[in-house]
Amino acid sequence: MYDRVAGVSNEVAGKLAKRLSVQTRGEVLFSPADRGRYATDASIYQQMPVGVFVPTDAADVRLAIDICRDLSVPIVPRGGGTSQCGQTVGAGLVIDHSQHMRRVLDVNPAERTAKVEPGLVLDHLNAQLKPHGLWYPVDVSTSAQATLGGMAGNNSCGSRSIAYGNMVHNVLGAEAWMADGSLVEFGAYSQASPDALAIGDFVRDLAMEHADEIDARWPKVLRRVAGYNLDIFRNQNQKPYNADGSVNLAHLLVGSEGTLALTRSLTLRLSELPRAKVLGVVNFPTFYQAMDSAQHIVKLGEGMSGGCLSAVELVDRTMIELSLKNPAFAPTIRTALSPHINGGKPAAVLLVEFSGASKADLTHKLRELVDLMGELGLPGSVVEMVDDAPQKNLWEVRKAGLNIMMSLRGDGKPVSFIEDCAVPLVHLAEYTDALTEVFHRHGSRGTWYAHASVGTLHVRPILDMRRDGASKMRAIAEEASELVRKYKGAYSGEHGDGLCRGEWVEWQFGPRINEAFARIKTRLDPEGLFSPNRMVDPPKMDDASLMRFPPTYKVVPIQPVLDWRAWDVQNDPVTEQTSEPGTGGDPALGLAKAVEMCNNNGHCRKFDAGTMCPSYRVTRDEKHLTRGRANTLRLALSGQIEGLAGQDALTSEVVMEAMDLCVGCKGCKRDCPTGVDMAKMKVEFLHHYKAKHGFTLKDRLVAQLPDYARTAARLAPLLNLRNRMLLLAKLAEKLLGFSAQRSLPEWQSRHFFNQPSQTHQTASREQVLAAERGVVLFVDTFNGYFEADNAQAAVKVLRAAGYTVHVATKLKPDGQHLCCGRTYLASGMVERAREKAREVVQSLLPFAERGIAIVGLEPSCLLTLRDELLVMGLNAGEHRIAEQSMLLEEFLVREDRAGRLDALKASLKPLGRPLLLHGHCHQKAFDAVSPILTVLGWIPEAKPRLIESSCCGMAGSFGYEASHHEVSMQMAELSLLPAVRAEPDAVVVADGTSCRHQIHDGAQREAVHVSRLLADLLPG
Ligand SMILES: Cc1cc2nc3c(=O)[nH]c(=O)nc-3n(C[C@H](O)[C@H](O)[C@H](O)COP(=O)(O)OP(=O)(O)OC[C@H]3O[C@@H](n4cnc5c(N)ncnc54)[C@H](O)[C@@H]3O)c2cc1C
Ligand code: SF4
Ligand code: SF4
Repeated sequence: MYDRVAGVSNEVAGKLAKRLSVQTRGEVLFSPADRGRYATDASIYQQMPVGVFVPTDAADVRLAIDICRDLSVPIVPRGGGTSQCGQTVGAGLVIDHSQHMRRVLDVNPAERTAKVEPGLVLDHLNAQLKPHGLWYPVDVSTSAQATLGGMAGNNSCGSRSIAYGNMVHNVLGAEAWMADGSLVEFGAYSQASPDALAIGDFVRDLAMEHADEIDARWPKVLRRVAGYNLDIFRNQNQKPYNADGSVNLAHLLVGSEGTLALTRSLTLRLSELPRAKVLGVVNFPTFYQAMDSAQHIVKLGEGMSGGCLSAVELVDRTMIELSLKNPAFAPTIRTALSPHINGGKPAAVLLVEFSGASKADLTHKLRELVDLMGELGLPGSVVEMVDDAPQKNLWEVRKAGLNIMMSLRGDGKPVSFIEDCAVPLVHLAEYTDALTEVFHRHGSRGTWYAHASVGTLHVRPILDMRRDGASKMRAIAEEASELVRKYKGAYSGEHGDGLCRGEWVEWQFGPRINEAFARIKTRLDPEGLFSPNRMVDPPKMDDASLMRFPPTYKVVPIQPVLDWRAWDVQNDPVTEQTSEPGTGGDPALGLAKAVEMCNNNGHCRKFDAGTMCPSYRVTRDEKHLTRGRANTLRLALSGQIEGLAGQDALTSEVVMEAMDLCVGCKGCKRDCPTGVDMAKMKVEFLHHYKAKHGFTLKDRLVAQLPDYARTAARLAPLLNLRNRMLLLAKLAEKLLGFSAQRSLPEWQSRHFFNQPSQTHQTASREQVLAAERGVVLFVDTFNGYFEADNAQAAVKVLRAAGYTVHVATKLKPDGQHLCCGRTYLASGMVERAREKAREVVQSLLPFAERGIAIVGLEPSCLLTLRDELLVMGLNAGEHRIAEQSMLLEEFLVREDRAGRLDALKASLKPLGRPLLLHGHCHQKAFDAVSPILTVLGWIPEAKPRLIESSCCGMAGSFGYEASHHEVSMQMAELSLLPAVRAEPDAVVVADGTSCRHQIHDGAQREAVHVSRLLADLLPG
């Protein structure tokens, strides 16, 4: 089937694209790059679809089904594409429900039900339910990405499934399109419509026919998601799908992974939001004891009135150690460790959570837990957490632990293929022990985490899929399956079948039930229109032709302009140690391996706190997502974009299209679990692209701004006319591409670098080197030429704090100021940026070597010295400079901690107005926002509040460009501008030049740099 579909003729593909374009209102994506972006999900697989269709509504889906049926092209439905087993990877037409089909159709608080479209993301539903005191409790880790349609497709399960069950326990109904185009309503069997009843009777007869086999072979655990739910008519689950034992036909579709019908809407059973939670963190001296205790701990939830045991989650030693190494998580994880167990070094901890109406009702459960552990020979092992804040922090660490593990560099990666086997709790300890042995035998190791309460522990051995990974995967899977059989568990307990575990369905259920599954598939989808070859007639899990990194995978040799050697490494699967930078064998010298760090987990499809990814947040388009960009680059670098070979692919327009809306905010550098740094990749890409296609006049004007600023400032009145005369602005837009709807930064005849006051307030190089408390102020182009007040203010603050201030200058003065090179980098002129970087190093190294801080004002400029400076390949002491480079507020906080700023703090006057802070994206990427809040907190009576915002949308020159103006404003309107408008009296602090400009343009408010606010509040 795969060959047939993959080989679908251009003629058929052409007809399909044409009919979809003409007959529907949806988006029709058939270019090689578009198809490539939908060829993968969070699994190890890759298959080029024939095309991609993004419907605007249900009518579009219906039409697409008809067209595909006519042309015999299968359909692969898709939500967020976060499946781990290749469920959304297929050679047919991929239908992406996530972009438009995401409405909440109805909420009935009294009945506690909601009706939703399949593309709605779980977190977005829960945000709408919160005011009703309700939630949808299948709390998958991917709650910010997973769509309800995808969750139903996979029969997803959350951390709290012990209390609430899986998806199947919480779906009340589904409207679905069948292969013949009919719309069938699936719900209670007793009230089924004639169409649904016919299907129900068919499945009931099958279940009766196979009753003995079902009883004998069906795993008797809560977590079993393989195959079709034939057991709706003969319950085998620990928790019946309906409490009253009735049958709901919608449950047949849950877990069917898009192979039986396309969901049009789902009716969901909602739960009351738990009002209170308490957490007991149980520390264990051995991993075995942790596993063995789970069966006893879960009994604490039995017969609980007014509450429940809602989670028992595992964090093992490796994750504890990784968290302890991370400065952001170490303080939190320490709060969870008991000094009585292994001297505060437990082999594992279990997070035991109780939920209910009030804390008072729950604290006795913690005492019962303490007693239980005492009885099990572990007195003093429980750390009790009653307050919400420490609990929340610890759950964050539990999630982040996995992320740290996933960020391993090198070709060996933790691979998900047996990561959700579920075994009865009594056997959990023996099972994990035995599987650990299996890993050892195959030269690998696993880190264990997740849902101990339901016997589903996640573990991913590290395998190198480009080399011997596939054969090891099979060998480990076979041994693991024997263990699962021995302990009467479920091979697929959470993540479904897809391409990875389809072949294990027959192994799990036996040939007769497998045959029954085939009959269900044939009855509902006789022509194999919906995701063929999955649970029925599946491929081999280790079929290399289906893999993202088959042994034939080759990277095109490329000489990158930045230094990517840190990614060009290999790793040891047992110790996880990586080899020396530059030894990984990447023909693109590390660039390809950096790009391949994206494992497609889809975490960048997020809308919650954090920066990543502003262009996706406003477009919801896979192309404008970090994942889409990484996939585009990977396909280009490995010669997989049809019709484009070698360097031509990297410098092609299709890659440019994907990179165009990347604002270089570095949100992904921080928020992406594997640290994909798309901002840096954009610099690399632009270098190659511009080398081939040439720089525009606009590129040059932006990049070379630091070079001509001095001359331009002399012409300030003339140049500023552009902001006063619309005609000139329009002319400039036409000639240069700067939006006429924007003002441009105003030139100042009197700027920082030509003001004599500057020189007599500041010190020479020699003076600062000799000073007791010296500091170097790095004044960037923007604050120097356009907003000199900020630089002056910084001098005033630093002097008032008792520092001798030297303004950084070139070592060999040529009349120009010292420049970090940011504007050149942003335009792809990396060679020129390197020249600037060399000057910076020459000038600043003597200070850095003396431990003198280099303090800057503009986040994007100063943080260049901590980031890009290190990948310019200078080898001239740049690391020393990076260590000493800090933003003004970072410096002030550091000095305050050393007890040197008491006088400065005491002299600040109150502000008497509300205070809002917008953090620059690069500040967020470098964890440099909290220092501003700390500094603002020094202002008497001030209560600074951080605006939860992504990128402001201006992003250097991005928002000034006519082609990006609209997207730029949409980014600003996401949260920043509404938050500013909502507080008309507030002083808004924003350190970024472009952020201030955006706030000015969008909200007509003057935001200030923190230096100016502080200086204004100082006496004199
Ligand atoms: C880091 C990470 C953590 C995860 N944690 C969990 C977890 O805690 N629990 C868990 O259960 N899973 C987890 N998963 C797996 C995955 O996130 C979930 O299964 C999720 O619910 C899938 O949602 P999605 O929108 O991405 O669906 P997709 O992956 O897009 O699709 C899932 C299935 O549903 C089908 N489908 C989608 N839309 C429709 C439709 N309209 N009609 C019919 N079929 C449709 C697809 O064809 C596919 O078979 C995790 C994955 C990752 C990468
Ligand atoms: S870019 Fe990062 S967050 Fe996005 S899918 Fe790739 S690895 Fe996940
Ligand atoms: S740098 Fe910003 S815009 Fe670009 S991919 Fe990363 S998060 Fe998205």
